[in-house]
Amino acid sequence: MLNEQAVQDIVKEVVAKLNLTDAGTETGMGIFTDMNEAIAAAKKAQAVLKRMSMDQREKIISSIRKKTLENAETLARMGVDETGMGNVGHKILKHRLVAEKTPGTEDITTTAWSGDRGLTLVEMGPFGVIGAITPCTNPSETIICNSIGMIAGGNTVVFNPHPAAIKTSNYAVRMINQASVEAGGPENVACSLVKPTLETSAIMMKHKDIPLIAATGGPGVVTAVLSSGKRGIGAGAGNPPALVDETADIRKAAEDIVNGCTFDNNLPCIAEKEVVAVDSIVDELMNYMITEQGCYLASKEEQDKLVATVLTPKGLNRKCVGRSAKVLLGMIGVEVPDSIRCIIFEGEKEHPLISTELMMPILGIVRAKDFDDAVEKAVWLEHGNRHSAHIHSKNVDNITKYAKAIDTAILVKNGPSYAALGFGGEGFCTFTIASRTGEGLTSASTFTKRRRCVMSDSLCIR
Ligand code: NAD
Repeated sequence: MLNEQAVQDIVKEVVAKLNLTDAGTETGMGIFTDMNEAIAAAKKAQAVLKRMSMDQREKIISSIRKKTLENAETLARMGVDETGMGNVGHKILKHRLVAEKTPGTEDITTTAWSGDRGLTLVEMGPFGVIGAITPCTNPSETIICNSIGMIAGGNTVVFNPHPAAIKTSNYAVRMINQASVEAGGPENVACSLVKPTLETSAIMMKHKDIPLIAATGGPGVVTAVLSSGKRGIGAGAGNPPALVDETADIRKAAEDIVNGCTFDNNLPCIAEKEVVAVDSIVDELMNYMITEQGCYLASKEEQDKLVATVLTPKGLNRKCVGRSAKVLLGMIGVEVPDSIRCIIFEGEKEHPLISTELMMPILGIVRAKDFDDAVEKAVWLEHGNRHSAHIHSKNVDNITKYAKAIDTAILVKNGPSYAALGFGGEGFCTFTIASRTGEGLTSASTFTKRRRCVMSDSLCIR
């Protein structure tokens, strides 16, 4: 006999599978076959949205938040089923985070100067229709996060999502439009395509009705957007090092680093991708990782097998990205229990598993002779992405020196990398970190243009 819970679980799974089948291929509720049509529909929706009050905009956003929470598990399962990457539990947490901590209209603020010569305001106005390109690593999270921010700013958005995550991405787009309609807003506040390609992306980048493009992904897409002749927000690749010095709480550093590195199987661009630790504490750190944090120490031979498996002459083996440590070890013939969540080894910074942004729970540990050497190695490993870096230290001077040298959009001190997204740390959430173009963690205000509104010689009533 099946109990009630088992029946519910089966129903949920069937519903998720049904949605998965339909979501990518059906048009309607924001999904189009033609990029020009999608842009035209989003333009029409923006004309409606810009006449709505801020209060009405906020109601649409509240509705998107509510639906995201309701669909968190479905979206998480779809993401894992469709891409084969990440894990459902962590993806549920990511969707909750995006629903609860992505800024809405409260981020749209006004600056005022009032004095003898009158009153001047700087207000944040919409761009219109924004073009957005999204990754397969956080597909629905990025779409929901971008949509909340862009709509809060008075814009609508057309997505050209990663084809490998199109069903999950389009499910999120439909959900956003349903949320808008239910809250009294227009349909097509977010639009997408049944079959996005590089050609549809090129149409979007050249379209006269797209004044701003937000690209979240690897170096190729950011370069393409920045070459488009349009204003571009470029949220590119990272290779975040976690530096550990001798003043750190080494046991806690081991826990924080492994927690951050293994979150969603290392898919987040901010996640710890390698460690640089000073000589005196490397062994202690690795010992805690192995004995308390579920890390597997890979031998030289196993490292070589991993190199041959996870890397190809053209770059990453996409079948390995976002896979668990157990699966990756299984691929090289090593069976481990479920408790193993990360693969570690000590190596030089040039080791291909250390210098490459893998997006897998493989954590190479580089030994540095002292703190200055550690900073130098970490800066080298970050490859000038200026994206994210982390440090475990109780020495404020060391932290300051590292922060200045590495110059990243995100620097987490004494915590797991995801604290930067507001998960176990203060601050708002985003899944688009504009590392290349300098906006940093994007929010609604990033997607607006500044307007100065001047009243000369009056309206100052002081
Ligand atoms: P990807 O670069 O393969 O794809 C990202 C998006 O860009 C996809 O929609 C893809 O179709 C599109 N694209 C790729 N090349 C293009 C081109 N030349 N012209 C137009 N569109 C193009 O990345 P991915 O594997 O989906 O995501 C992982 C990468 O994204 C990692 O490098 C990660 O660090 C980065 N990322 C960065 C952020 C951030 O906020 N900075 C967030 C998530 C992911």
